[in-house]
Amino acid sequence: MDAPSAAELEANPVVQAAFAAAWANSLIDDPQFRHEEGGYIYCDPATGDTGDVVVRRARPGGMLYLNLDSPPTVPGSYLVATYHTHAFPSALGHDPSPSSDDYEEADGSGVPWFVGTEAGVFVVGPDRRVGGLTGPPGYPI
Ligand SMILES: [Zn+2]
Repeated sequence: MDAPSAAELEANPVVQAAFAAAWANSLIDDPQFRHEEGGYIYCDPATGDTGDVVVRRARPGGMLYLNLDSPPTVPGSYLVATYHTHAFPSALGHDPSPSSDDYEEADGSGVPWFVGTEAGVFVVGPDRRVGGLTGPPGYPI
């Protein structure tokens, strides 16, 4: 079974709420405590691409970094995407768009990566989980 596409995930209210919470928690306006937030998005093949999507937060990251190396297992579900914020303001000279590392790691992970920024949400990597809702429950490759 195909995993949901990045566009389908981005339209999902659970995903939208997770993006909004991560952005709010990133404290972009706080010079001392602004940091990256994010996590993992899962889908249950029993409910398929129109069904249950659940989100697990990662531990908060640093000003320009978030560790997405260890997706927790959600029983019965497969990892279908990651998301993280870029919380450094462009007014301070930092480009908010996805970094070269984001592109590289997303391509290597086999799932789409969403990057929430002050310029909107970007998607990098594959359009949907490579290989569908089968294989290892975390990153498929
Ligand atoms: Zn990034």
